[in-house]
Amino acid sequence: IILFNAFNFLELNWKKQFLLLAEKKLNFIKTKSKTLFSAELIILLTFTLSGLVIIIDFKNSNMAADLVATIQSIQLFQTNLNNIAKSYSDFKGTLIFIEDYMKFIHINPRNEVKLNKIEKLHRLEVKNLWFRYPHNNFDTLKGISFNINPGKKIAIVGENGSGKTTLIKCIAGLYSKENLPIFINGIPIKEVDIESLQDRMSVLFQDFISYELTVRENIGISSSSNMDDNIRLQNVAEKVNLLEIINKLPNRFDSLLGRYFEGGNELSGGQWQKIALGRALFRESDLIILDEPTAALDPVSEKEILEDILNECDKSIIIVTHRLGVASLADEILVMKDGQIVESGTHNELLSLNGEYKKMYESQSHWYNLQKGVLI
Ligand code: ADP
Repeated sequence: IILFNAFNFLELNWKKQFLLLAEKKLNFIKTKSKTLFSAELIILLTFTLSGLVIIIDFKNSNMAADLVATIQSIQLFQTNLNNIAKSYSDFKGTLIFIEDYMKFIHINPRNEVKLNKIEKLHRLEVKNLWFRYPHNNFDTLKGISFNINPGKKIAIVGENGSGKTTLIKCIAGLYSKENLPIFINGIPIKEVDIESLQDRMSVLFQDFISYELTVRENIGISSSSNMDDNIRLQNVAEKVNLLEIINKLPNRFDSLLGRYFEGGNELSGGQWQKIALGRALFRESDLIILDEPTAALDPVSEKEILEDILNECDKSIIIVTHRLGVASLADEILVMKDGQIVESGTHNELLSLNGEYKKMYESQSHWYNLQKGVLI
């Protein structure tokens, strides 16, 4: 707020919202007062009427007894009326939640089809995938097809908004799987037990979470049953170039990260990203999906880490990246534009096409010497 000098803008917006809300409240109070006034009027009239009846009937009856009986009956009537009104308003209030509850219950009815559990992910195929977000009037993915076999490394490149993240969210089973033409080991994804599929995947999104927990927990959370395996933790930390930094922390893997709790150790943005990458690698999976996993890293660390992962890891990997230095390490590069795969092939094949990839390459080539894979 200070850096963007955004205080006036925010205050203005806040005031606008406040006034809107105040007007709504005022209207509500007016309606409530009118209703209360009518109710009070009815009660007053009832009392007056009863008084008149007593006065008229005075000669023939015992006045005191009549007065007590009348007042009691009016009070009883009033209490019952209040109870009815309260029950009605409670009922209306609860009904709002019941409607939500019923909608929720009817989402994705289970047990209609016998779902197949995925023990190991051998093959993932995407066949002519079209995808539109609810409430959008355009398709985000338009006829995407590709497949991934064991050990294959795929890089997805393309400008912002071309649909890369949407594609990996579909593959990861995060969106409705009912009509998606995605096949897992040859089985349509709608017939797959999605949790068992997600168990075989490890996904790192751009907006990963930095837990204010220990290093061990931050990395090990992706496979909590193996969290105490120090050798495994060390291997992962080494892969993501963090071992040296972790060794310098007061309690090594058991050091608290973040500044929220006393004694916590704050990391840099790049170090947090390495932790998140370590988390993705720690999990026992057949497919690792990385969405811009190194955006916060400097190009030298990025190259060191990803070269290692892409060359040595025997798992399948899908990596979304803007950097062609990273993409060039993959077995296949998919170039996305406006929801479509416009080019696919290896780095050299794509360069010889003289198309989108070549354009991207030329705009980035002053950053990299891609022949050597290092910074110029
Ligand atoms: P990329 O990862 O290539 O930058 P995204 O897959 O994140 O692209 O987004 C592609 C397009 O899909 C966006 O431009 C936006 O129009 C649309 N989109 C993404 N997420 C949503 C969403 N949650 N709801 C509606 N539309 C979305």
